[in-house]
Amino acid sequence: MPEISRRQFMLLSAKLAALLGVSTTALPAVARAVQTLASGQAPLLWLQGQSCSGCSVSLLNAVHPDPVAILTRYVSMQFHGTLSTATGELAMSVLNDNIRRGGYLLAVEGAVPAAMPEACVIGGEPFAQQLLRAAAAAEAIVTVGACACYGGIPAAENNPTGSQSVREYLQANGIAKPLIAIPGCPVHPDWLVGTLVQVLAFGVPELNADGAPKMFFDRLVHDQCPRFADYERENFAAHFSDRGCLFKLGCLGPVTHADCPTRLWNAGTNFCINAGAPCIGCSSKEFSRSMTLPFYRKSEQAQIKADKA
Ligand code: SF4
Ligand code: SF4
Repeated sequence: MPEISRRQFMLLSAKLAALLGVSTTALPAVARAVQTLASGQAPLLWLQGQSCSGCSVSLLNAVHPDPVAILTRYVSMQFHGTLSTATGELAMSVLNDNIRRGGYLLAVEGAVPAAMPEACVIGGEPFAQQLLRAAAAAEAIVTVGACACYGGIPAAENNPTGSQSVREYLQANGIAKPLIAIPGCPVHPDWLVGTLVQVLAFGVPELNADGAPKMFFDRLVHDQCPRFADYERENFAAHFSDRGCLFKLGCLGPVTHADCPTRLWNAGTNFCINAGAPCIGCSSKEFSRSMTLPFYRKSEQAQIKADKA
């Protein structure tokens, strides 16, 4: 594990404190958390179930701190199904040794195929079984992304694999552990890194009704939206990329809690609504679950034209 100088600690801690929205008086606590992460005292196991790996890719797009720093310095990532350099039996022995030792933070990406365990097998073992073993020995669990948190796309209506969220599956199997949901499709890297540091620096953060940290998921997208004035004036966009509120194109900002309008994505570049696309509610519990809530709706104008044709 590379050494980190005090200067590097304080620099990173300042960035993370800003990310967490805490005052400079909290810097020493944040710095201690970073030190714990870096020293291997807080090992992290990362399991992947029914997922597209998009949340892992999002983590690799982190800017402050950058992905190399996260993986090599600041997070003692012991195992990651996609990113670990070890493969085959060696990789599985690393995973199993860690589970035997216990005491790690467990990050889980992807849903659990509860009714069809053979739909997701890792190292010859169904993911569902591996999850139960790993969860039982974990200090705390962080579910990463919509699929792990609430079922997401694998649990969409029809759901042939009987897919469940990690929380549902663990509860059904009698495993109770502190569990923090970080939803999104994918997660924002700040939400993930910030939550890990928060857990170590200050303990489990205050959670909203859906189990997600309030520091990122307290307010509705709608209430922070730059097009809110258009909504109030009933100035609605008829087509994607038009100016105006995107409500009539299916925007789910009014029912979705996330700080995207102020945090922005891709190093503060943009977010869905600024790019002319409705919020599809990717951090909401209802994301993709029901056919009655499709990602996009035709505008009323397009619907009227279609009806007349
Ligand atoms: S674009 Fe969406 S989030 Fe923004 S004001 Fe309209 S409905 Fe609300
Ligand atoms: S604006 Fe909505 S759809 Fe876009 S990333 Fe944020 S929560 Fe997800």
